[in-house]
Amino acid sequence: MDIISHGLYGGAGFYKKGKKIFWLAFFIGMLPDFLSFGIFWLDTFLGFHPRPNWQAGPPAMSSIPEYVGMLYNFTHSLVIFLVVFLIILAIRKKPLWLLIPWGIHILIDIPSHSSAFFPTPFLWPLSNFHFEGIGWGNPIIFVPNLIILGIIYTIIFYRKNSKNKIISKK
Ligand SMILES: [Zn+2]
Repeated sequence: MDIISHGLYGGAGFYKKGKKIFWLAFFIGMLPDFLSFGIFWLDTFLGFHPRPNWQAGPPAMSSIPEYVGMLYNFTHSLVIFLVVFLIILAIRKKPLWLLIPWGIHILIDIPSHSSAFFPTPFLWPLSNFHFEGIGWGNPIIFVPNLIILGIIYTIIFYRKNSKNKIISKK
């Protein structure tokens, strides 16, 4: 999915926790792409690597350096997510719920990427298996995504508003 949608899905579950936590969850929701494509984007921006051609859809995989794929495997694996979640759980003796937007990011990417461009390696490094999804740029995915986000944030908006009204009545 696109990076903004990832942020919005990540933040949605945390809106009750205040603005700071919402934006932190938003950021963590985007992090798997920041730590893979984001680094590559910076790489091309600084001129260390030629910019791939995005004009005719996703560029050829050969135009993207290998390290992007490696980072992508790491940040888009439910296995790695689970290991990190459990290590932190063992250290803190309580779950770090702010990691959940990372897991949601991977779950959303599984059906919204096809093998044409970065299919989601959710079982890496145990297996290279990937689900043959539909690229998120396809309206079949993108339009329902916008509708779902619209519904979620309308509910959040009304809940916040009705809560504010109750507080202002008191
Ligand atoms: Zn992603």
